[in-house]
Amino acid sequence: MEVFVDKPKCTGCDHCKDVCPVAVFEMYDKNAPEVNNDVAPDDMKWKGVDDPNVFKEWNGVNDGHDHFKKKSVAINGPSCILCQACLIECEGECIHIKDDSGTTYQSVYK
Ligand code: SF4
Ligand code: SF4
Repeated sequence: MEVFVDKPKCTGCDHCKDVCPVAVFEMYDKNAPEVNNDVAPDDMKWKGVDDPNVFKEWNGVNDGHDHFKKKSVAINGPSCILCQACLIECEGECIHIKDDSGTTYQSVYK
């Protein structure tokens, strides 16, 4: 299983880390050197600029999460069991998974 996060769209909400039963995700400060340590393609790597549409939607939303300070990194993608829990909890709709047959999945916020 291949898992990565489209970093500019990640709000840093922690939901993926909270729900994943096999610890695929780790949260890093957006300025940390580890922030691009997953298999995201170049156009989905963190380069210092949040996606403007996601930022507009979630900046200042007071739901107990500290938005736009951290980014999620799929440090343990091969352990994914495709339970899909993260795919319905992701505020930025920015988690991508590819299974061993090549089928792809992307998060859609419920
Ligand atoms: S689909 Fe994979 S990465 Fe997402 S919560 Fe389930 S095991 Fe974790
Ligand atoms: S659930 Fe989505 S938006 Fe929230 S921290 Fe994880 S990858 Fe980022």
